[in-house]
Parts: sequence; structure tokens; C-alpha cells
Amino acid sequence: MLMASKHLVSMVGMIKLLFLLLIFIIDLLLPSGIAAGIPYAFVVMFSLKSENYVTTCIIAITSILLTLLGYYLSPPVAGFMEIAIINRALAIFLITGTAIMVMKYQGDQVKIAQLGRLSTTDALTQTKNRRAFEHIMARETDRALRYHRDLSLALIDIDHFKKINDTYGHDAGDELLTAVSKRISSITRSSDEIFRLGGDEFAFLMIETNLTQAQKICEKIRNAFVNQAIGKHSHRLTISIGIAAIQPNDHQATLYKRADKALYHSKNTGRNRVSVLP
Ligand code: GH3
Ligand code: MG
Repeated sequence: MLMASKHLVSMVGMIKLLFLLLIFIIDLLLPSGIAAGIPYAFVVMFSLKSENYVTTCIIAITSILLTLLGYYLSPPVAGFMEIAIINRALAIFLITGTAIMVMKYQGDQVKIAQLGRLSTTDALTQTKNRRAFEHIMARETDRALRYHRDLSLALIDIDHFKKINDTYGHDAGDELLTAVSKRISSITRSSDEIFRLGGDEFAFLMIETNLTQAQKICEKIRNAFVNQAIGKHSHRLTISIGIAAIQPNDHQATLYKRADKALYHSKNTGRNRVSVLP
């Protein structure tokens, strides 16, 4: 998909360069290069949506060079050369101005996309945050209910995490939270979404996964922590998990509530376990 879109971008770039060449030939055929730069500026403007600044820059520089080259190659017309020079100077001004405007717009788009990513990313673990969780949960529960698809939610909480903070300090606790999220991600499929909901609690949304399958995956996650050192200080820790699968009369909040109840069941029955509420 990525390869295909990259290919498409380079195809679009090629078409634009060919278009520039066509404008250049037309420019040479017109006396005095009248309006030489305006079509070039339009080609630069077409970069507005799809391209990055490198492509915009290349198109703008090529356009300026072709405008200058056009001056030397087009046949001189008696009495019109001053107009031709003014036209081409204005054309270069127009192409440069358009390129600056387009590149500024592209820079703003990149910043907006970065801000969007930051607002849905947990600053510590770099997993998705609670805001993203609520958005994706709403989308996936709607989809699963409408198309009668499986969807399971697991809530994961580290056991006795406070003790680690108290014994080794908050920084060690932070480092451990990142290590835990990495370990969970390394076990799960890339299509499954992991979120840090806050503190030492994570959510794991399993798309197209029924309760039995979810239970198997979560047992694998739980086992990945049993007797296996983690973090800089080689901690030993366990996690508790609560799972719920979507039912026909569910909505986002009811599914979450069942998973939460299952998690508390795990905590109340000795921790280091996976509990399931159908
Ligand atoms: P339980 O087995 O019942 O889950 O016990 P717990 O000690 O893990 O208690 P709980 O989950 O209720 O509390 C989580 C603790 O996580 C509380 C707080 O001290 C700590 N914590 C919350 N956010 C952060 C954070 O960003 N960094 C660090 N280092 N600690 C955090
Ligand atoms: Mg905890």
C-alpha cells in the first residue's frame, strides 16, 4: 500500500515535470514570452495538497530555470524585448511567491498532523492514550455491532506497582511502565491496539477476536511476565487482566464496565491471573 502510494506520488511528480516541458515548448512558440510564468506558477500551486516541500522546490526551481532559458531561446521580436524581460521577471516573482506559500502550507499540514499524533499519544510509553482509546473504542464497537463481528477488550493492570515506585523511585517506575508496554506490544498482533489509560493500567482492544481467542492471547501476555525479569533493575512483576467480549446489546460503556469488573475479579482472587466475563 505504502509502496503503491509512493509510486503514485512519483508518477504525479513525473506528470508535472512533463507538463512543465509542454509549457516551455508553448512559451518558446509565443512571441516575447508573454505570460510565460503564470502556467508554471499554477503547476507549483498544484503541489498544495499531495506533495512535500522537496517536490515543490524542485518544480519551482525547474520552472524558474525554464523561464530564464525561454528568454534566451525564444526568437527576439523587435520592440518587445523590454516587455519580455518584465514578463519573465514577474513570472519568476510569481513562481517564487507561489512556492513559498505552498511550502508554508505544507509545513503547517505537517505540524497539524504532529499535533494530532501528540494529542493521542501517551508521552511516557509512546503508546496511544486514553483519548485515542475512547475514540477507537467508539469506532470499533459501532463497527462490530453493525456488522456482527467479534471484538474483545482486555484491561491490564500491574500488580503492586506502588511498591516498585516506593522501593526504587518514580523514575524507575516510569522506566518500567515503558518496558511493560513494549513487552505487551511485542506479543500482540499489529492490528490489535494497545493504550495506556493512566497510571499502571493498559487497555488492549482485540479486533475480530472472540472471548476464547482473547483468553488465549491474554494468557500469553500474562505468562510473558511470570518469572521473567524486566527493566533496568531486572524487576519481577506480574499483571492482572480482565477480558470482556462484545454482545449484541452492548455499547462502549457496558463493554468497558464488564472488562473492568473482570479485572477487579482478577485482583480480588489473588492477582497474576486472567478473568473473563462473557
Ligand atoms: P494493585 O495490585 O492493586 O494494582 O496495586 P498497585 O500498587 O499497582 O496499585 P494501583 O494500580 O491502584 O496504583 C498504581 C500506582 O501507579 C499508583 C501510583 O503510585 C503509580 N503511578 C501512576 N502513574 C504513574 C506514573 O506515571 N509513573 C509512575 N512511576 N508511577 C505511577
Ligand atoms: Mg496496579
